[in-house]
Amino acid sequence: MARLQIEAVSKRFGAHHAVREVSLDVADGEFLVLLGPSGCGKSTLLRMIAGLTEPSAGRILVDGADVTGVAPQRRDLAMVFQSYALYPHLSVAGNIGFPLRARRVRRAEIARRVAGVAATLELSELLERKPAALSGGQRQRVALARAMVRDPGAFLMDEPLSNLDAKLRGATRAELVALHRRLGATFLYVTHDQVEAMTMASRIALLDAGRIAQCGTPAELYDRPRSTFVAGFLGSPPMNLFPAVVRARAGDLWLTADGVDTPLGRTGELGTARPVIAGIRPERLRLGGTAGCIGGTVRRVENLGGEELVQLAVGATELCVRAPRPAGVRVDESVTVRADPADIHLFDPGTGLRLTWQAPQENSLSRPAAAVPVA
Ligand code: ATP
Repeated sequence: MARLQIEAVSKRFGAHHAVREVSLDVADGEFLVLLGPSGCGKSTLLRMIAGLTEPSAGRILVDGADVTGVAPQRRDLAMVFQSYALYPHLSVAGNIGFPLRARRVRRAEIARRVAGVAATLELSELLERKPAALSGGQRQRVALARAMVRDPGAFLMDEPLSNLDAKLRGATRAELVALHRRLGATFLYVTHDQVEAMTMASRIALLDAGRIAQCGTPAELYDRPRSTFVAGFLGSPPMNLFPAVVRARAGDLWLTADGVDTPLGRTGELGTARPVIAGIRPERLRLGGTAGCIGGTVRRVENLGGEELVQLAVGATELCVRAPRPAGVRVDESVTVRADPADIHLFDPGTGLRLTWQAPQENSLSRPAAAVPVA
């Protein structure tokens, strides 16, 4: 088991900054997911931790020891890649035991440890088979077993499930979570798939263009996104984001835009109206409230089986409502929707950062700043 500390690590490829001053402290036994869109620097960061890519700046520590210049095989970390990279001419047992043979471990000891991890990953029946005679999920488990057999301090995984079909992915996800619990080892897991991140991670570090946009529990990122980038990345369909203005009326704050006039449930005075980007998740908009404070016209209704997605034209923007089926609305119908004040997120239009409502006596929307803790 290992604690991983990444201190202001950067990587440049020529003029391109793939990773920019990333700092992360991964606790012993944690399941941390590096999430982000294609090209945001996830794999580069993982490869630097593994020792396969040299950082341009910064330090990497494993259990407090600086390993920045240490060779990959001396870092006590195991890497599992998207491509399983199994040796086709070796049996499953041969593949799993390979790292131990390379370290000249005694035969009897290799056999004992291979049998142990094979039992853990339910591969005992397959030990004599060649990789070509295995399913994708079984090959993935062999790759994992090969990483586990050394009993490393931490597992570094780069999109290990992306070659599996949807059903197998779901099952393997659950297996990985169970395995993590059983082993108690540190997992650092790269994916661009938000479902994998939300379901498996104890914490998610969401990367945007080489920087950490937000790091926290899945619930923190989903419920209190630090920026419009985070708000728009997590959630399917993503959070509705639209330009609006906060106004004070008789001491109460209201969110207003074309077709929108809804209370924010907060009191205060604003000298002038405050432009914002408002965010409301589709599942938090409710159709048909009598005092519906958002009015629009139904443009499309999509049937998802248990639910429907209703696309509404509201002024110049389009809002998506996720409602239990049947939502009971028709295309071209005028409808109203409501949102609880607690479900309305506000962001600064300039920086995209979350606006926090500071102590009531301040009576103002605080300016976003990197240093302002998100309450
Ligand atoms: P994906 O999800 O598509 O794998 P990623 O988030 O893992 O993406 P990286 O593979 O880390 O992204 O790449 C980050 C950026 O660095 C990309 O713009 C990529 O083109 C660039 N990059 C990565 N490796 C190299 C390299 N060896 N030489 C030059 N540029 C590179």
